[in-house]
Amino acid sequence: MQITEIYKSIQGESTHAGLPCVFVRLTGCNLRCSWCDSEYTFTGGRRMALEEVLKEVERLSPGGGLVEITGGEPMLQEREVVPLMKHLLDAGYQVLLETSGERPLARVPKQVIKIVDVKCPHSGEPDTFALANVEALQPHDELKFVLTDRTDYEFARDFVLKHALAERVHAILFSPAFEKGASGSRDTSHCLLDPHELAQWILDDNVPARLSLQIHKLIWDPAAKGV
Ligand code: SF4
Repeated sequence: MQITEIYKSIQGESTHAGLPCVFVRLTGCNLRCSWCDSEYTFTGGRRMALEEVLKEVERLSPGGGLVEITGGEPMLQEREVVPLMKHLLDAGYQVLLETSGERPLARVPKQVIKIVDVKCPHSGEPDTFALANVEALQPHDELKFVLTDRTDYEFARDFVLKHALAERVHAILFSPAFEKGASGSRDTSHCLLDPHELAQWILDDNVPARLSLQIHKLIWDPAAKGV
């Protein structure tokens, strides 16, 4: 499979935020989100055999722990990434899969925790989540909505309620988009939507969502890669 990088860091998002995690970042994406902070994954990388990836994960986190398969869009390499996820599970790892949900998710092993990033109107990639994937969601999965403004928030709120998603998954995450190319200050000033404002909207509407901040961008320089 084509890999951009494999590294160990603190998980920055989802309900697993704060935990040590090995990231296996696959190369290539078929979307072009306006706020994407992973454009360096669109091209390049290097071919790695399944055994080579497993060995590197084992070196970084011997004997188990948390592994996130991410990208880019990892499901573009489904033929190779599904066996990788199975081997990681068999080896005792807890596996997260970060995906846009644009590709079919039915063949993802059931024990994998899917973090599905449903694209909102101002991502530049609206309506890309495949609705058929709702049926592939497991009770331990999580749905993430990255928000830039009130329009995005209302889309996410209405989408969650319309498809009764809070009853289907473990967590609904509403995350303010982060300014692309931000560097320097490690605080929420780079958020395109003020978390304070988002918090108030969630409270006003009593939405069953949790406000999620990308804590890796509050720990390290927002421009840092491989953290
Ligand atoms: S799906 Fe992810 S990697 Fe692809 S463009 Fe959007 S944010 Fe970037």
